[in-house]
This record gives sequence, structure tokens and C-alpha cells, in this order.
Amino acid sequence: MKIKIADLEFEPLINETLITERTKAIGQQLNNDYQQSIPVFVGVLNGSFLFIADLIKQIDVPCEIAFTKLASYYGGTTSKLKIRDDIDLIMDITGRDVVIIEDIVDTGNTLHYLIDKLKARNPSSITACSLLLKPSALLNPIKELKYVGFEIENEFVVGYGLDYQERGRNLRDIYKKVGY
Ligand code: 5GP
Ligand code: MG
Ligand code: MG
Repeated sequence: MKIKIADLEFEPLINETLITERTKAIGQQLNNDYQQSIPVFVGVLNGSFLFIADLIKQIDVPCEIAFTKLASYYGGTTSKLKIRDDIDLIMDITGRDVVIIEDIVDTGNTLHYLIDKLKARNPSSITACSLLLKPSALLNPIKELKYVGFEIENEFVVGYGLDYQERGRNLRDIYKKVGY
């Protein structure tokens, strides 16, 4: 069923059941990969709030959770080159295994920016996990991006945490803009 948010129309792309399945699978991968240390999961607000909440419930190794807030789209439907750094990560990550949790990687600018910033704080390792990836929009490969839920076309999506003009974050499924 099509839905309207502000001036745009959206249609279903990935349903809740599929999201749950992939989240469980990624959780298992993380459980396998982080048995030797206590990883720090760093959620990137706002978009990843539902994904990290669901993903963390699949983690059964000891772990910690922290947040940072970055913005790139702020209101529109295309990526901005300038990233707004709204809330810094407060936790000391020196010597820690860090796993960044993102909602979506588009141009990759936001993730590159965050990885560079956190690397300067001397963690033991950094990897990234994103629910969604738009491979054809990615400007430079990101070797740290080891976990991806779904690869999608270069289309604008909302739901399950992702917004259009701050709306649609509450939707259980992911929708794409009609006629992108
Ligand atoms: P990038 O820096 O990789 O171009 O963009 C990353 C950020 O832009 C994401 O974390 C997300 O907040 C926002 N973004 C990118 N693509 C989309 C999209 O299709 N829908 C929404 N709602 N946000 C997006
Ligand atoms: Mg994001
Ligand atoms: Mg947004």
C-alpha cells in the first residue's frame, strides 16, 4: 500500500519480517566475530535507533552500547557533503573493539568521517554495520563496512528509523519514494 509523507509518496520495499530475519543473521555473525573481547557498539542517531535496539537483543556476548549523533540529509532527500556533528561519542574507546551501527550508507561520506574521527582515538579495531547500503551511490569503498543488511538501489527510503522531514521513523517496514 502506498503512503504519503509530507509532499512525497512512498511504496513498500522491505517488510518487517525480512528486517527481523536479517537482523538475527547479522547478530549471529557479530556473536561469532566478537567472542574474544567486549565490543562497544556505537549507534549513529537518529536513523539507527530501531535497528540498534533490535540488533542488540540478538547479541549474546558481553558488550557495551554508546551513541553519537550525526546528520547529513537534514530535511531533504539527497546527501549533503557537509556533515553536521551534533553529539560526540563520550565513551573512551582507547584499546576497544568498536562496531559502528548505521541505518544506511549512501555516498559513504558520513561513515568515512566517523571512522576517521574514531580512529584518531586509538581503538583496537573498528568495523561498521549498516542495515542498508546503496552500492551505486558509494563514492569510495569502505573496508571497515563488514556487515550489511540489504543492498538497495539508489533510491530514497523511509521507515524503521529513517525519516523524511523527521517523519516516518515509526514505520515498521521500509518504504521507497515512488518514481525515484
Ligand atoms: P552518506 O553520508 O553515506 O551519503 O549518507 C548517510 C546518511 O544520510 C545516513 O546515515 C542517513 O541519515 C542519510 N540517508 C542516506 N540515504 C538515505 C535515504 O534513502 N533515506 C533517508 N531517510 N536517509 C538517508
Ligand atoms: Mg545514519
Ligand atoms: Mg534524516
